[in-house]
Amino acid sequence: MSGRLAVVGLGPGDPRYLTPDAEAALGDAEALYGYGPYLDRVPARARQSRHPSDNREEGARAVAALRHAAEGARVAVVSGGDPGVFAMASVVLEVAAGDERFAAVPVHVVPGITAAQAVASQAGAPLGHDYVVLSLSDRLKPWDVIARRLQAAAAGDFAIAIYNPASRSRRQQLADARDLLLAHRDPGTPVVVGRAVGTPNQQVTVTTLGELDPEQVDMRCLLIVGSSQTRVLRTAGRPDRVITPRRYPG
Ligand code: SAH
Repeated sequence: MSGRLAVVGLGPGDPRYLTPDAEAALGDAEALYGYGPYLDRVPARARQSRHPSDNREEGARAVAALRHAAEGARVAVVSGGDPGVFAMASVVLEVAAGDERFAAVPVHVVPGITAAQAVASQAGAPLGHDYVVLSLSDRLKPWDVIARRLQAAAAGDFAIAIYNPASRSRRQQLADARDLLLAHRDPGTPVVVGRAVGTPNQQVTVTTLGELDPEQVDMRCLLIVGSSQTRVLRTAGRPDRVITPRRYPG
């Protein structure tokens, strides 16, 4: 029995953002599990089975993948970006630890470039100082918790990388989040909106907290809200760059 499981981060999109380690883990796998659109990013290989599942079936996917590995297969579970950031790594590790059938299956996590880093790099360096990573989705946690954390991040003057800012059904959260942040932060605070970064459909726009239009934001977007120190550098002949300085006054 040489079964094992790797939870592999695919990065934000384009294969050039895949790490060599992730590439090796995918090449080594006999079976691939993941959300369908993520699996579609992995080139087909001979003698490798593919097991796509829906976005909301994370627990069932983890069980199926672990069962396959327990039978002796080399299995990879793929996630977009980094598998440890709002993705499959914690699900797989929790399921593996909670079920004796999987006690002998080695599980390892192969990191990837997460959306916050991908978007930040396209805008400049908006995460150059302390920042908070937060998911705006209330599918897996109550809105009260999200609101409290947003307030704490705003009061602490962190830059904030916001994952899952909206979806087709979740349309109100971002407007509410913006209003919460505006209670602490200047309306002129830079906001980066990165959509499908690292794919052919990439769009990166820079706006302000006061002018942020939630209607323009969907589930393919990640937002970076600046701190009080974040600013836009405008130099003739160069694209605008958003930066948060390394030095904090005081
Ligand atoms: N594990 C992923 C995050 C999964 S949560 C990672 O590390 O990036 C899904 C959210 O990630 C999306 O709603 C969006 O906010 C963000 N996201 C993922 N890929 C993105 C991309 N290419 N461009 C912009 N945002 C992205």
